[in-house]
Amino acid sequence: MIPEPKRLVFVTNNRHKLEEIKAIAGDSIKIMSLKEIGCEEEIPETAETIRGNALMKARYVSERYGVDCFADDTGLEVRALGGAPGVHTARYASASGHDEIGNMQLLLHNLEGECDRRARFVTWIALIESGEEKTFEGECVGTILEGMRGIGGFGYDPVFQPEGYEKSFAEMTSEEKNRLSHRGKATRKLIEYLKDHK
Ligand code: IMP
Repeated sequence: MIPEPKRLVFVTNNRHKLEEIKAIAGDSIKIMSLKEIGCEEEIPETAETIRGNALMKARYVSERYGVDCFADDTGLEVRALGGAPGVHTARYASASGHDEIGNMQLLLHNLEGECDRRARFVTWIALIESGEEKTFEGECVGTILEGMRGIGGFGYDPVFQPEGYEKSFAEMTSEEKNRLSHRGKATRKLIEYLKDHK
């Protein structure tokens, strides 16, 4: 008999991220959305670090819904801005956290005339299985462009160009982006771990 794939809830309301992660995980794991477990509330992410936020979100769902789950949190760290927006990446331009264009505009404004445009995306994934916590990190280094380019992806994709490429994340196919992105790397670490710990 073929064993059932492991079931894990991905603590996100972001459709793009859910699709990205399902593509990376393939058939090895059944990834369920928050909607599928009836979780529709806003999950707090008020920790002081990116890793802390990933843990906070995973603990919230694991404790209230009693499911094995994982959560991710990502930050964009820009060298010339002393690592900002960092843990404030989602809410850079507005407290709601839903203004992607505003976020990019503010970033471009703050980097006007700046030659050092080096930046990195970093993702932390926190996994909680049977109450046991484990974290995984992935990073992607690159530069912030002078303007927005491309229409794919989400978030800051139009202004981020990964090192060694002539395209922004938003000009890549999702397969290309997944191969080199921060979340792709952290997710592959998660998947490897899960395969080794069936
Ligand atoms: P979150 O932790 O994944 O919710 O992301 C925090 C912030 O980083 C949000 O503003 C996202 O839009 C942005 N972000 C996360 N991942 C990516 C990415 O792969 N490309 C561009 N922006 C991203």
